[in-house]
Amino acid sequence: TLYLDNSATTPVLPEVKDAMLPYLLEEFGNPSSKYYSKADNAKHAVQISRERVANLVGCKSKEVIFTSGATESNNMIIKGIADYYNEKRGKHIITSQVEHPAVLETCKYLESKGFFVTYLDVDQYGRIDLEQLKKCAEDTPPLLITLIWGNNEIGSLNPIHEVAQYCFENNILFHSDATQVVGKHPIDLEDYPGLRFLSYSAHKLHGPKGIGAAIIREDELGLPTKITPLLHGGEQENGLRSGTLAVHNIVGFGKAAEIALDNLELNIAELKQNEVYLYKLLKEKYKDRVKFNHLEDNKIPGILSVTFPGINNELLVKNLAPYVAVSTGSACSTSKPSHVLKAMGYDLEHIRSTIRISLSPSVSKQELDIFNQL
Ligand code: PMP
Repeated sequence: TLYLDNSATTPVLPEVKDAMLPYLLEEFGNPSSKYYSKADNAKHAVQISRERVANLVGCKSKEVIFTSGATESNNMIIKGIADYYNEKRGKHIITSQVEHPAVLETCKYLESKGFFVTYLDVDQYGRIDLEQLKKCAEDTPPLLITLIWGNNEIGSLNPIHEVAQYCFENNILFHSDATQVVGKHPIDLEDYPGLRFLSYSAHKLHGPKGIGAAIIREDELGLPTKITPLLHGGEQENGLRSGTLAVHNIVGFGKAAEIALDNLELNIAELKQNEVYLYKLLKEKYKDRVKFNHLEDNKIPGILSVTFPGINNELLVKNLAPYVAVSTGSACSTSKPSHVLKAMGYDLEHIRSTIRISLSPSVSKQELDIFNQL
């Protein structure tokens, strides 16, 4: 089966696995232990990985907090800010209707605790409107703005640079879920002074599952930004995320991040080429029996949102499964019709006929030609 569900997860690269193995075997030390070499080696490996994970997005290594993945990073940052700052900054949170459930459900939980959340509308490609956001923030200054950077179902990019600038000028805390863009879009946080918080995950960039990063940038004075931790305990990760570090996973994340950065331009070009190839192939084969919901440009390369009107997407995905693995949308909410496409203005019939195809840089054109035979 040709695997084309890379937005759900990606295979671990052999180099990543090789980097991880020693830390499951001989180098099993706890990096919080002291004085003996197994502890020092583990600590050193974590530090190198922290630098690699930071380099991928252009922040300082001390601004990286290792978590179990982007779900935890989103929860930690949003709840942590809400708890720590609400007395000073109020209870209004601004987000959008097309966030990942890890953000939406966290916001809903906070609503149940007395916070007030605005879910911004999006355009037909799933992007928020900057003017609407500014108006909303001016009406009731928010405690936090949290927006997805690149959408996991259709690949559209939000105007993160503009929002970051606005937040910088207006002293608003801004977080972005960058899980789908890291490794597929150049990110240098030095260019985004207003973007103080970022979430991403290793398993979307050929690293292991169960490890991610919460980036918590220093404040304007270079001091650590405070939030209330989700996990209390041994005070690892500057007291922000207690628990013995998953050294093997961290090493895998670091290796994957290093490879992703070294190959960033190449991967983007290959993803884009593959996307254009498949787009043309499907268009030629199915003519007006196929519709595309994603943008052709200014998006995460390699994500296609494809609609076959009149054909049930669950059945289609199931029938394709022996040949190609694709999905009806996000792996995290497959049982419900896509809230993303709904917010983009599509009706239920359209949504129930839509599949997501997410490519990898390494897939070949010959492999993609399988769609000609289906
Ligand atoms: N946010 C986005 C945009 C995602 O695509 C995903 C993965 N489906 C997550 C968060 C959750 O990441 P993790 O699996 O690492 O918890």
